[in-house]
Amino acid sequence: MLQISPVRAFADNYIWAIHAPADPRQVVVVDPGDAEPVRQFLSGNDLRLAGILMTHHHPDHVGGVAELLREGSVQAFGPANERIPGDPARMREGDRAAFPALGLDFAVLDIPGHTAGHIAYVGHDVVFSGDTLFSAGCGRVFEGTAEQMSASLAKLAALPERTLVYCGHEYTVNNLAFALAVEPDNATAAEYLETCRAKRSRNEATVPSSIGQERNVNPFLRCDRHTVKQVAEARAGRRLNQAEVFAVIRQWKDGFKS
Ligand SMILES: [Zn+2]
Repeated sequence: MLQISPVRAFADNYIWAIHAPADPRQVVVVDPGDAEPVRQFLSGNDLRLAGILMTHHHPDHVGGVAELLREGSVQAFGPANERIPGDPARMREGDRAAFPALGLDFAVLDIPGHTAGHIAYVGHDVVFSGDTLFSAGCGRVFEGTAEQMSASLAKLAALPERTLVYCGHEYTVNNLAFALAVEPDNATAAEYLETCRAKRSRNEATVPSSIGQERNVNPFLRCDRHTVKQVAEARAGRRLNQAEVFAVIRQWKDGFKS
């Protein structure tokens, strides 16, 4: 099992530091929006930066890349269909982001919707889902369509249940408040909210979650469920297909205050 450390950035971003199984002194970071906290993490733990994985082009995910690439020999991977600083290897679905000397190898999935070229990295029983799948929620649909985002989330939901979900932000408590507005009788979500509130009160990360847990609590992965479909259809005042259910729930969340 991989050892992965959270490096906090900005108000609620997570930059994930993957400790290389084949060389514990080296790390690969995911979505370094800011170079400074990464540098502090490296020097504080006597580690060397060997690689960078990027999920999408937003500045809070790539803002530190140019500076970190000056650290020396750093291998970078990013989405093929977005403009990314530092000229990373351009990844699309079917490609692999591999660091053979470090014992790390990730498959790439195309998951458009939040941005047009958003990708995920999957391997070693973990997924780095960027701003597409959050714990108990999902990213806003900025550049793609609701159909695309719905399909991207379905792709992630189809990963094995044990897969740990490392997303880009600490939004879990607010997301669960919304999840319970959608499904007030979801006891698993209510219990998970208490667990996550307790973790946050101790300033602990609620991430990672798992695909199995997300299938139980995340309304955006539950658009095929009767409970979610019914509440979406009541809001829309008509029958909806699964992508339309997603669109109604997403729009509701955009204006939701917990
Ligand atoms: Zn984003």
